[in-house]
Amino acid sequence: MSEQKSKNIKPETYDYDAVVIGSGPGGEGAAMKLAKGGLRVAVVEKYHDIGGGCTHWGTIPSKALRHSVSQLIELKHNALFTNNYPQKQSFTFADVLRHTEQVISKQVSMRSGFYNRNNCSLHFGEASFVDNHTIAVKNKDGNTEKFTAENVIIATGSRPYHPEDIDFSDANIYDSDTILSLDYQPQHIVIYGAGVIGSEYASIFRGLGVKTDLINTQNRLLSFLDDEMSDAISYHFRNSGIILRHDEAYKKIEAVKNGVVIHFKSGKKMKADCLLFANGRTGNTDKLNLQSVGLSPDGRGQLAVNPHYQTDVKNIYAIGDVIGYPSLASAAYDQGRIAAHVILTREGKKKLIKDIPTGIFTIPEISSVGKTEQMLTQQQVPYEVGRAQFKDLARSQILGSEVGSLKILFHRETKEILGIHCFGERAAEIIHIGQAIMEQKGQANTIEYFVNTTFNYPTMAEAYRVAALNGLNRLF
Ligand code: FAD
Repeated sequence: MSEQKSKNIKPETYDYDAVVIGSGPGGEGAAMKLAKGGLRVAVVEKYHDIGGGCTHWGTIPSKALRHSVSQLIELKHNALFTNNYPQKQSFTFADVLRHTEQVISKQVSMRSGFYNRNNCSLHFGEASFVDNHTIAVKNKDGNTEKFTAENVIIATGSRPYHPEDIDFSDANIYDSDTILSLDYQPQHIVIYGAGVIGSEYASIFRGLGVKTDLINTQNRLLSFLDDEMSDAISYHFRNSGIILRHDEAYKKIEAVKNGVVIHFKSGKKMKADCLLFANGRTGNTDKLNLQSVGLSPDGRGQLAVNPHYQTDVKNIYAIGDVIGYPSLASAAYDQGRIAAHVILTREGKKKLIKDIPTGIFTIPEISSVGKTEQMLTQQQVPYEVGRAQFKDLARSQILGSEVGSLKILFHRETKEILGIHCFGERAAEIIHIGQAIMEQKGQANTIEYFVNTTFNYPTMAEAYRVAALNGLNRLF
């Protein structure tokens, strides 16, 4: 580890004990823990509000949009409403965006309170390094202030990847940030990139009745998932009318009058009103003047860190999307708290949990924790499967949302839970019941917990009992 010391600055003369660059979940997690630990903390944010990409153009808007669209779908299909109440027949993207704006505003107001109550000094402007203890902040009026800090945490997040041969200034070519400015209702959208973000937006647009083509550069949808979950979401996407194309790559993206034409290497062509390009992300490191501290990000703008989230410069830490995988708000927050713990205690015993749950807010929703069947088969682990179909649960029938299932993978000898995979309404909540048991130590993390306890009835949680009985009955 190298440490480039600022000349003539002793620790007691630093303006702050720590400066956090970025106010997304990573920055917030770090800043709150440092402030509660008694340190003098400054947070620098280049956007005009705190909350990060997470609040303003990532997680929160996409989840609020998804929720509104899912409610619309329910209204359209629930006979109780369709038979008895006249309804507005169609809603536009602009209609559902309004709900999103309300949520963002509540989030900003609540999170601003955290900084105020914990005496974190907020600086709005773009931060860059002068040296490893000095930060320059250029505000929107062009003025620059400088201050010093003993520790610096980089939590600057990431942005959509823009290949040079695509003209993102064209009015009909969007990325996952600019799509929130879409002010007309397209008849037809092509979404290029079938990762989590592309798949979630495919659900949103299809739910609004937009003809939706989802282009996957790989040969399976969300191939990191358990095969059964990937098959299920592919089936439901196709069933809802999404056209899913695998193994495609664009050759040229051409802006035409009132639309976009995508030319594929496979020889196909597709014309749509607009394109959402959602294929890859780049770490926000280019404006940080990292060369002044001797750090160089990789080709995707990401920084390398050790398990304590320290970069190659000892007093500079990096957390969240700017360090790459898993690039989740949930993980970014915890990484921020771990980096702060290292700064506060100078020890690094705290670590991010091994099995980070995945929540994918498609329609239907998917969530997983632990190993997939493919992994266990490859590792030659003798596992068994317990399944519950949501359509067999009283609660699902009452809710009128019978699509979905819960699958528990467990060791057939020790009965230890090895993986849990769920799809259907509230999957991302349901997964946490199983996760809590899976993380118990000793004999407490077995599937038998679910048959030895009593569940509220009727609930979705009851799926665990049904799946556990199903799995245990397979043993001989
Ligand atoms: P961010 O939240 O991106 O915050 C970084 C902040 O740093 C920004 O406010 C930025 O303005 C600021 N900044 C950048 N450079 C500078 C600078 N030089 N000076 C000062 N400030 C700077 N994750 C989930 O867990 N669940 C989801 O459902 C989910 N859905 C998503 C949907 C979409 C469409 C997208 C794009 C992402 C989604 N994510 C989701 C990922 C999640 O949003 C990110 O993992 C998370 O925001 C990363 O947090 P962060 O703190 O690293 O960065």
